[in-house]
Parts: sequence; structure tokens; C-alpha cells
Amino acid sequence: RALSEGRNWHAHDTADEDATDRDVSLLGELDEAIGKGEIRVVYQPKLDLKKNRIVSVEALVRWHHGTRGFLSPDLFIPLAERGGRIDGLTLYVVERTIADLLQWQRVGRPITGAVNISAKLLGSDSFTQALVKLVRCSGIQPQLLTFEVTESAAMTDPEAAASALHTFRALGVSISMDDYGTGQSTLSYLKRLPLNELKIDRSFVQFAHQNRADGVLVRSTIDLAHELGLKVVAEGVEHEDCLAFLRNSGCDLVQGYLISRPVPAAELSSLLDKGVSQ
Ligand code: C2E
Ligand code: CA
Ligand code: CA
Ligand code: CA
Repeated sequence: RALSEGRNWHAHDTADEDATDRDVSLLGELDEAIGKGEIRVVYQPKLDLKKNRIVSVEALVRWHHGTRGFLSPDLFIPLAERGGRIDGLTLYVVERTIADLLQWQRVGRPITGAVNISAKLLGSDSFTQALVKLVRCSGIQPQLLTFEVTESAAMTDPEAAASALHTFRALGVSISMDDYGTGQSTLSYLKRLPLNELKIDRSFVQFAHQNRADGVLVRSTIDLAHELGLKVVAEGVEHEDCLAFLRNSGCDLVQGYLISRPVPAAELSSLLDKGVSQ
């Protein structure tokens, strides 16, 4: 099923409806879509290379639109951000993720879960408070949660971002720097932000085993992160050779189609039971 995840919203972007009209109407439908169950959360496993086990998942949001079909988060997340709907959407994703993490814990397969937190939200005190309250009231151990933030998040308003991240850390949640390597001023953020984990962007990882420059960048990033006491996740691992390269380079965790596509919670349970034989 996960393999059928397409990018088929292009097909609906026809001449009768230009992109702007589509965006306005989608934005108006978003809240209702949550109520109708059209917004779902799928989980992509992160494989721990030392334990050889799936220890964690990343929550990724999906919109199965009643008439437009599958919509990519790359389409509606930016819309929600611009239209002031990203806070509600994010809280919904966190709520779903916590519910599933608690369920996996109940059945004796405790894993940790990461949720993407948009740049914009790190500047909002009311969002930070709402998120803290949600985590506190849910009964989950905050140690089971990670928030993934991008460098651009930190760049918009570095002071506000740092302050929000410190609040989450104080609660017990881990912080991961997502899409590492694609932004700017990276090194100063590594120093200033309270990070636990660094995710090397797919664009460096994908051909790290073939392309010398990519390989050098990935290896030295892993060493740098380790020197700073951070765990390293490589995202977008699609080939066995790439996995072997990452293993040799001391990478802690890998995520990508080679391990598994993002899957619904029910399918993840069976992946957890089977384990990964690599
Ligand atoms: P991201 O955080 O970098 O997430 C990783 C994206 O790469 C996901 O796409 C995932 O399906 C895809 N991916 C994973 N492994 C592979 C691989 O081996 N090869 C390739 N080619 N791709 C792989 P997805 O789910 O379409 O999400 C795209 C972006 O949308 C995410 O990028 C994230 O920035 C954003 N996003 C998704 N869910 C949420 C959410 O709940 N909240 C926020 N704020 N953003 C979200
Ligand atoms: Ca992410
Ligand atoms: Ca990423
Ligand atoms: Ca990425």
C-alpha cells in the first residue's frame, strides 16, 4: 500500500482551477478534513545499526482528500504554514503519534517517535505552551518523543527558536536537527541549540557510497556530531551499498526506503514483530 503513495495531485491542477484557487479551497477544507479523518499519520522506521532493531519512527502526515485523492505534505504543509493552520495540524499529528506510541508501549514494543515541527511554530509562545500541555496531559513519557526541526527554523528567529527548544528539552523531549547540511550558518546552530540528534539530509546520503565528495561530507559530519555528543541519523537510504558505507562510517541510525517506506500504524506493528534482518 505504501508503494502506491504517489504525487498525483498534479493531475488535478488543471486549467479550470489554477494553483491559487486550489490552495485557497484546500486551506478552507483543512480543519474539516481533520474532523473527517482524511488527515492521517504514517510512520517511517529508523533502524538502529548497533542494535539492528527498529527503535524509533518518524511521523509523516498524509491527506487523503475526498475528491482530489492523495495530497503530498510538500503541497499542504506550506499552505497550512502560510494560512495560519499549521499549529492545529501539528498538534493533531503529535496527538495521533502519542496515541500510537502509547499503544506500542502497551503491547510491549516501546519505541520512540519523532514529529516534524515547522520553523514558524518555534517563534510562537502560545504554540509552545499548547504543545507542552498536550504532552503533559497525554501521560506519555516525554523521553519517548523527539521533535525534528530544520535549520531554517532556527534561522527565522534564533533567540525564539532556542528558547522554545530549551522548553521542550526541559520537559524531557529530544530535539533533532532535520535536513542537516541544506541550510546555512549550520555550525553556529550546532553550538547554540540544545540538540540530541542530527539528521543528514537525503541529498548527501543517497550517493555517499558512490560520490567521493558526498562520502567525505557524510563521514566528517558523523564524526563532528559524535564529537559534540549527538546521535546521527542518515535519511533517504535506498541502497545496500549506501547502508554498508554508513555502517562503516559509524552512523547510528538509518531511515529510508531500503528499510521501509512510511506505513500506517497497523503495518508498523508487524514490521516491529518481524524485526529487520540485516
Ligand atoms: P522530511 O522531514 O525530510 O521527511 C522525509 C521525507 O522523505 C518524507 O517525505 C519521506 O517519505 C521521504 N523519504 C523517506 N525515505 C526516503 C527514501 O529512501 N528516498 C526518498 N526519495 N524519499 C524518502 P514526505 O512524507 O512526502 O514528507 C515531505 C516533507 O513534508 C517532510 O520532509 C517534512 O518536511 C514535511 N512534513 C511531513 N509531515 C509533516 C508534519 O506532520 N508536520 C510538518 N511540519 N511537516 C511535515
Ligand atoms: Ca523530518
Ligand atoms: Ca528530513
Ligand atoms: Ca530531507
